[in-house]
Amino acid sequence: MPELIDRFGRKHSYLRISVTDRCNLRCLYCMPEEGMVFMEQERLLTYPQIVEVAEAAAKLGIRKFRITGGEPLVRPGLEELVAGLAALPGVEDISLTTNGLLLAKQAEPLKRAGLKRVNVSLDTMDAVRFKFIARRGELEKVWEGIEAAAEAGLAPIKLNCVLLKGVNEDEIGRFLKLSAERPIHVRFIEYMPIGHDDAGWRDHYLPLSRVLEEAARLGYELERAQGPKGSGPSENWRLTGGAGTFGLIHPVSEHFCTNCNRLRLTADGHIKPCLYWIDELNVKPALGSPEAMERLFLRAMDVKPENHEMAALLAGDPLSHVPTERRMSQIGG
Ligand code: SAM
Ligand code: SF4
Repeated sequence: MPELIDRFGRKHSYLRISVTDRCNLRCLYCMPEEGMVFMEQERLLTYPQIVEVAEAAAKLGIRKFRITGGEPLVRPGLEELVAGLAALPGVEDISLTTNGLLLAKQAEPLKRAGLKRVNVSLDTMDAVRFKFIARRGELEKVWEGIEAAAEAGLAPIKLNCVLLKGVNEDEIGRFLKLSAERPIHVRFIEYMPIGHDDAGWRDHYLPLSRVLEEAARLGYELERAQGPKGSGPSENWRLTGGAGTFGLIHPVSEHFCTNCNRLRLTADGHIKPCLYWIDELNVKPALGSPEAMERLFLRAMDVKPENHEMAALLAGDPLSHVPTERRMSQIGG
C-alpha cells in the first residue's frame, strides 16, 4: 500500500476532521459576530461517509484523527463517529478540539465510544473578557467541561489559548501558573490570518516570544519539556517543578511547516492539504470507490505546498499563491 509522502518528503499520519462549521460562540479571531452563512445540512458529510474517508486514510498510514469544527459538540450523536473511527484498523489516537461549553454532558459517553483526549479552547480566565472574546457563552461552563473531561479520564487535557495583543496578553502569567498547578498542557497559539481581513489581524497579532519574556519578567524558572503525546509543532516548556507543561505554537513567527504531517477534511467534504492556501480536493465524487479515494489522498500529496506564507503577509511581501477564503470555523483549525 502506498504511503502519504509529499514532494518534500513529509510523511502524513494525522487527519483533522471537521464535522460542522456551526458554533455556539463567535470568537473574534475566528468568525464575525453577525452574518456568517453556514453550510446547508445536506452538504455535510454524514458520519458513515466520514468513516469511509477515514478508512481510506488509515489504509494509507493515517494513525491519528482529531475531530473539530465549528464546534463539534453542536452536531448531535458524535459518539457514533468516534466509535466508527475507533473501529478502523491501525488507528492509534482519536482526539477532539472543543470550546468546552457542551463537554460536561458529553465527556463520559465520548470516552466510552473511544475518544482518548481533548483540547479545550480557553483564551481567558476572566468571565467578562470571555464575553468580549467569544461574544457569547459562559466561562463557567467551559470549566465544568474541563473538569468533566478530567473525571472521564480524557487525558492529557490541553488548553488552547490564542494570544491577542491588547486583549489577553496580560493573562500570560495566569496561564503559566495554571500549567504549574495542574497536570494540564497549556498551548499558546499565535493568531493566524485565516480567511479574514488583514487589518484586524495586524492589530492583534502577538509573536509568542512575548510568553518567554513575560515568564522572565515574573521571575519564573523554566526548563524545556517533552510535550504530551500529540504536541505536534509545539515548542514545549515547564515551569521548574510544575505539575503540567506549556507549549508555544508559532506558525507566523517561526518555521512551522518543515515537519507538517497533517491533512484536513472539511465538513462539506474537501481535503485541504494546507490550512493556509486555497487548494482543496472534493471527496464526494470518490465516495463508494476505495480506489478513487486513495487516488485523491495521493493527489493531495502532489499539490501540498512546502510552506504557508503568513510571515510574508505580515511583512507586506507579495504571496506566491492564493490564500483560502474559508474562515477557521469552516476548516477546523
Ligand atoms: N470550536 C472548537 C474550539 O474552539 O476549540 C474547535 C474549532 S476551532 C476553529 C479550533 C481551534 O482553532 C481553536 O483552538 C481556536 O482557538 C483556534 N483558532 C480559531 N481561529 C484562529 C485564528 N485566527 N488563529 C489561531 N487559532 C485560531
Ligand atoms: Fe467557535 Fe471554535 Fe471558532 Fe470560537 S474558535 S468561534 S468556539 S469554532
